[in-house]
Formats: sequence, C-alpha cells, structure tokens
Amino acid sequence: MSISECKPDAKRKRDSAKPQDSAQPAGKMKLLNRNLQRLSAHTLSIGIIALIIAAPLFGYVTRKTVIFGGQAASDKWASFPIAWSMNPTRGPNVTGTGDYETAFRQAFQTWASISTATITFSEGPPTAASVKPGLDQVNLITTNLTPSDWAVYGVDAISLTNIMSVVQTGQILEADIVFNPNVGFSTEAVTPLNQMDLQAVATHEIGHLLGLDHTTLPSAVMFPASAGGSLSRTLTSDDTIGVSTLYPTAAFAARGSVQGTVRTTANTGVFGAIVVAVGQNGQPMATTVTDPDGKYSIAGLPAGTNYILYAEPMDGPFTENNFLIPLSSLYPSKTVNINFTTRFR
Ligand SMILES: [Zn+2]
Repeated sequence: MSISECKPDAKRKRDSAKPQDSAQPAGKMKLLNRNLQRLSAHTLSIGIIALIIAAPLFGYVTRKTVIFGGQAASDKWASFPIAWSMNPTRGPNVTGTGDYETAFRQAFQTWASISTATITFSEGPPTAASVKPGLDQVNLITTNLTPSDWAVYGVDAISLTNIMSVVQTGQILEADIVFNPNVGFSTEAVTPLNQMDLQAVATHEIGHLLGLDHTTLPSAVMFPASAGGSLSRTLTSDDTIGVSTLYPTAAFAARGSVQGTVRTTANTGVFGAIVVAVGQNGQPMATTVTDPDGKYSIAGLPAGTNYILYAEPMDGPFTENNFLIPLSSLYPSKTVNINFTTRFR
C-alpha cells in the first residue's frame, strides 16, 4: 500500500457540535440558497420503492470522502483494536466531581459494547502532559489545550476529531479527539447549566473517530448539537446500525436491508432526501439519505417485524450544512432537493 499523502486538515472532520447560538458563516448560507430549487412542492410527489434483500449495502451515516480518482469511499479503520491514549492533564475548563478518566473509558466502552459490530479498543498508557494533537501515531484524547492551540483549527465547535486517512482508500490511520478549551465541560452525572457533559461529547466524537458522520435523527448520539440536538451518552439503534455497517459481525451482515429510490412524479431521483425506517413500536430504527440518483439503502434491520418508511426533505433542523463532509463536496454538480413534503409508505 502506498500512502502518498495524508489529509489531516483539508478534510478535517470538524465536529459541527457548535454552540447553538452561533450563526452560520455567510458563505455557507449562500451555498444553501443556491441549492434551493424553484419548484413548487405541489409539482412533486414521492414514491418510495422498497424491497427487502439479504445483503446489506452501506448504511447512511458513514462518513465518506472523495478518494483519489474521484470516487466517494467510506472512511474506516482496517483493523482492531484501536489503541488510544489520553493526555492525563485535565484542562481548567473541565469541572465536576466525576472521575475524568472514567468518562473517557466509558465513552469508548459504549461503542465497543455494540453486539453487532466488531469494534474493540485498547487503552495505552497516558501520554506526557506536553503531548498535543498531531500526526504522531497516537490516537489522542485531550482537554489539555490552550486557546491558542485551539485557534489553529479555525472552527467554532465544542470539540472536534481530527482524522488522518489514506487518500486512495479512505483507510483511517490516526484520529485525535480534542475539546475546545473555551467551552466548559463537566464530569457530573447531571450536567450543570451552560456546561457540556464530557462523557456525552466524548461518545459523539468517538463516533466520528470510528468513521461516522452526523445523522439526521435528533435522538441519536451522532445528531449534531449545532442543529439543536441534546447531548446523550446512550446510543440509539441509528448509531449502532450505522457503525455496524462499517464493522459488521457475521450476524449483522446476515440481517436484511431495505433499499429503493425516492422519485418525483416526473420519475427523477430526489437527491438528499432523509429516509427513515420506523419499527412496529413507532420508534425510528435507522435513517439514511438518498444519493444523487435518489437511491437509498438501510442495512442491518432486524428481521421479523414490519417497517414503515418515510421520506422527508432535509430542510431543518438538520440541513446539508450539518454534515461534516457536505453532500456538495461529495457530489459537486448535484443539488439537494428539499422541495417536497414528507411522504409515508
Ligand atoms: Zn460531530
């Protein structure tokens, strides 16, 4: 394997868990406006053609990048366990009586305990306090950053995961999780007002470390706070199914998947539609987003139950700009269609 280039910062996987009162950059708003089509909602109707097949394709929430040659590929690790180390020095912005190290360990354990995925981690010895994020073959988790350390990232976020991956394949080589020193974090079981739950934020960032982008499902750990999400330490089925499509156990791979196409009445595929599979208990099991042809696939659905599918436009609270890797960068010549009303099947 030749690794000609790593892509730490150009493709930096910024956590868009921004403080909620932060405004979108003007440039992003312009981009969104360009994507608005002047189509009446009444001219479109949505038909979802779904069939259950045995072989999973890919789950939606995996983070994709455009690899060398122009194709989109999922970022993922090649093998387990993933070794990680913490910087043992707690930043002054982290408060609370809960154990600092335990918060991180439990966050990693949350993902390692998914029964349908092959994820394992190994905790290495703590780094020296002086160790900063960087391409050094250490998968680091740290709150020991100064405001000037953070400023180099140039993002307004609660935290971020900096991922280095192979340009040709998307294989992840290293990931560092860093917490914004300007944001207050807490280790308390009940997070004080105006602070962030350290373990919940770590859980979200480890999802990025594993290769997940943000999901459109508000209850999920991987839903971005910038879209109004609340922080949770507990994974939803959308989180577990998403990551299990990257690292499936044999039992997961044998599960069914649902796939189909969201189309307009003119038989044109709808790009960027949110598709949700709802189980018999009325709870969403998993979500996906259609590709430029309107196609979708949700793998890993447990058998023995019926699912209701619905398609909704990505017009808020989750919008295209809430992905780490915008759809417009994966498919530069395509326009997300948000000009339709929610349709059930
Ligand atoms: Zn995030």
